[in-house]
Amino acid sequence: MRTATYDVVVIGAGPVGENVADRVVRQGLTAAVVERELVGGECSYWACMPTKALLRSEAALRAARHLPGAREAVTRGLDAAAVLARRDSFSSHWEDDGQVSWLQSAGIALYRGHGRIGSPRVVEVSAPDGWTTTLSARHAVVVATGSSALLPDVPGLLQAKPWTSREAAAARAVPERLAVIGGGVVASEMATAFAALGSSVTVLARDGVLPLAEPFAGQRVTESLRKAGVQVLLGAEAGSVKRDGEGTVHITLTSGEQVEADELLVAVGRTPNTQDIGLDSVGLTAGSWLTVDDTLRVVGGDPEALAGRWLYAVGDVNRRVLLTHQGKYQARAVGDAIVARAKGEPVEDGPWGRHTATADERVVPQVVFTEPEVASVGLTAAAAEAAGITIRVVDYDLGAVAGAALHADGYQGQARMVVDEDRKVVVGFTLVGPDVAELLHAATVAIAGEVPLDRLWHAVPAFPTISEVWLRLLEVYGR
Ligand SMILES: Cc1cc2nc3c(=O)[nH]c(=O)nc-3n(C[C@H](O)[C@H](O)[C@H](O)COP(=O)(O)OP(=O)(O)OC[C@H]3O[C@@H](n4cnc5c(N)ncnc54)[C@H](O)[C@@H]3O)c2cc1C
Repeated sequence: MRTATYDVVVIGAGPVGENVADRVVRQGLTAAVVERELVGGECSYWACMPTKALLRSEAALRAARHLPGAREAVTRGLDAAAVLARRDSFSSHWEDDGQVSWLQSAGIALYRGHGRIGSPRVVEVSAPDGWTTTLSARHAVVVATGSSALLPDVPGLLQAKPWTSREAAAARAVPERLAVIGGGVVASEMATAFAALGSSVTVLARDGVLPLAEPFAGQRVTESLRKAGVQVLLGAEAGSVKRDGEGTVHITLTSGEQVEADELLVAVGRTPNTQDIGLDSVGLTAGSWLTVDDTLRVVGGDPEALAGRWLYAVGDVNRRVLLTHQGKYQARAVGDAIVARAKGEPVEDGPWGRHTATADERVVPQVVFTEPEVASVGLTAAAAEAAGITIRVVDYDLGAVAGAALHADGYQGQARMVVDEDRKVVVGFTLVGPDVAELLHAATVAIAGEVPLDRLWHAVPAFPTISEVWLRLLEVYGR
């Protein structure tokens, strides 16, 4: 058995774990990360990068088709093989040498293998070669093990060998017929991507399309999917699944209706990677999401084993926000908090403090790369009302903005600003339309900065850009 001691031991070298380690090493502590698969995690190989690579070429083609002059130059449809090849390169061909070299250059030790908490401040690493290494942490153990696709308990589903987001993101070929269970972000993006690549797609959206977004977002994406030939079955629920000897998947809906496909993608949510990481050794429940306090220290468990509050959980595994950028934000806060505590410096744990992931609560930006794109930050009108905020909702037709009309002929879209009427600040913002992703950050700044509406009038959008929608929304709101 090998042993080693570091200031900080991180279990999981996804985007979040890597960032925690980098943050503490930059400030003079030592750190090791433990990784059982590929350094870079889900995001690099099976999530953000490959899925956005699958979607990008069709978006560019679509944009060209909306512009006279460019449209005439488009003489063919999407080249699926070229799209898959570009996706391969954005997934680094599922090899992590680049990220491993980066870890080395950053001075972070890497242990390949499965990490488990063995006892307080101790992580046991079972390496593929059968060796076990015992890593001791002087200051902190950080769980950054992420999440995996959730497979619902539908009779026959597992035996039918469905795709999860992993198989969809890394698909070697485009199935002729693809059925998708789910209507959330992953389901909507993959339905968009595979329809563009040539699959005949059926979406079983029991709870609707993008049910957590503003309702107009889901409606516009549903319309557009249907226009692209996707069969969107709202309210449809899979009752049972069977793959026959020929390879065809038969899905029987609870309504009795039948759907047939060559592949079935299940995209109904995530489950935490905490089954086998030794949580029971510190009085926590294996398989559960980890609850954290404001500086991302794990709460609950055995007070004796967790004395000194040495256990942290960041990224997907704490369920606060399952997005890379938000996990990395947590990583920066947690890295700095660990360093501050190690050096005996004050911890700024109040709202918006350096060591607190305050934006997780109400300022989470997210882009859904469907057609149209859905870019949102903060609270939807419904969520703001549920939170007891007195709101006023201001909507504007994006197609009526000069910059949008110039951007593409027949531009269609919508913007919504949700205003907290007591504080006169924006608390939610949603844009739906082609190429709105890059517009989102202005809204994130306005919400995080709690910029008063009176001051926003002085933030003048350039003419003729789509950002002029800000001016239009303020005009509708009135001064
Ligand atoms: C299809 C899809 C598309 C997405 N697109 C986006 C997007 O466009 N933008 C965005 O912001 N987010 C996106 N996300 C979410 C994003 O992928 C996650 O939020 C992000 O990967 C979380 O990072 P993480 O480091 O917490 O976990 P992960 O990326 O899951 O990394 C955890 C790492 O821990 C390792 N690990 C787990 N258990 C152990 C163990 N016991 N020992 C050793 N290692 C272990 C895993 O192998 C993995 O490498 C998408 C997700 C999906 C599924």
